[in-house]
Amino acid sequence: MSSQTEVQNQPSCDDFYDPALLSVKVACDRIASMVAPLTDIEQVSVRGALGRILAADVQSPVDVPNHNNSAMDGYAVRARDLKNAELVVIGTAWAGRAFNGDVAKGQCVRIMTGAVMPEGSDTVIMQEQVERNGDTIRVANGQKLGQHIRRSGEDIAAGAIALTGGCRLSPVELGLAASLGIGELRVVRRPRVAFFSNGDELRSIGEPLALGEIYDSNRYTLHGMLTRVGTDITDLGVVPDDRDQLRETFVRAASIADVVITSAGASVGDADYIHEILDEIGQVDFWKIAMKPGRPLSVGKIADALFFGLPGNPVSVMVTFYQFVLPALRRLAGEKSVVSLLLPARTTKRLKKKPGRTEFQRGVLSNCEDGELTVTSTGDQGSGILSSMSRANCFIVLPADSHGAEIGDIVTVEPFAGLV
Ligand code: AMP
Ligand code: MG
Repeated sequence: MSSQTEVQNQPSCDDFYDPALLSVKVACDRIASMVAPLTDIEQVSVRGALGRILAADVQSPVDVPNHNNSAMDGYAVRARDLKNAELVVIGTAWAGRAFNGDVAKGQCVRIMTGAVMPEGSDTVIMQEQVERNGDTIRVANGQKLGQHIRRSGEDIAAGAIALTGGCRLSPVELGLAASLGIGELRVVRRPRVAFFSNGDELRSIGEPLALGEIYDSNRYTLHGMLTRVGTDITDLGVVPDDRDQLRETFVRAASIADVVITSAGASVGDADYIHEILDEIGQVDFWKIAMKPGRPLSVGKIADALFFGLPGNPVSVMVTFYQFVLPALRRLAGEKSVVSLLLPARTTKRLKKKPGRTEFQRGVLSNCEDGELTVTSTGDQGSGILSSMSRANCFIVLPADSHGAEIGDIVTVEPFAGLV
């Protein structure tokens, strides 16, 4: 050996325990504290409101249903007449065509589901419990006063809150609004998001690949996820590792968007000039997060825009988007509840893990015959293996202190919930 000193190991992304790492929870909380919900409101048609965030509570202008009506096809009767041997059928009440007249002693009305209860009647007898002979009926024993009636206002009373502000409007809320006769809803404007990929090695589809070059896939996964969350998207393409072009693109992105997202380079790489640019034009922190995949993340502000510099590896991009960007976008859009569903499931495979970082392994969640949830790892968990995400329908979330799991252990899973 020469007189040279030994090479010392520097901290790297292969280290498992590093006290300087930020926990996933702390990173999430810090990001949440940076987000101020948008206040711009748009009025849209009920159909156009699907997936939008409702700006404020909507009170019901009416009772739903607006009349007492029958929940069954059958006969509207006066319960106190049921001791009579027979009742006379004096007419029919149809849904949308009420029976005009009173039900008097010893009488009843043939009634259809949804039809308004005729005056004087107080109970519905299912047709299956009735024997009809011409214009008279006999009723089976065991009926109860007031049965099979849908009461006025029992679904929603006039003045009650029918739709809660800050909810993401799904098909059921559109139907609810329509049932109240409401044709338009006030929703929060969609967040504007500008994003680009960075790297000299990236080529766009259609271009031939030279040795070492790859196709840019992050812009496609990001575009898909941003579309599903409900954002107005500006795709700024691929920006090479060039100081001037990067600075110009960052500034332009921040001028048109509420949120700027980049992948690769801008996290913790060796392209130091990206740090310099971001320091010059914004206030950005470069975090190392105790997670796998997706350890480097830069978060901050460029002018008024929130900035996320995601890692470059395709799986890391999706994981960090899901864990950090998604809740931020949902908060920004005015959504009140952004907690994701975590479920216990039994692992069918041994899951390898060293303590130190929270891992988001990819898994396939399914039902066992006995109804229990089981999860199967998709195999190789490399952060560049996008096909592992494609096969998966959930993350297997292994906490930082976990040593992995044995076959049959219960682990926590986070279903993709249609967003990945
Ligand atoms: P970097 O953060 O620039 O060191 O990138 C980390 C890894 O992610 C490298 O292997 C890149 O080639 C890869 N990568 C970066 N950007 C993209 C992209 N847009 N699509 C696919 N892979 C990418
Ligand atoms: Mg790069």
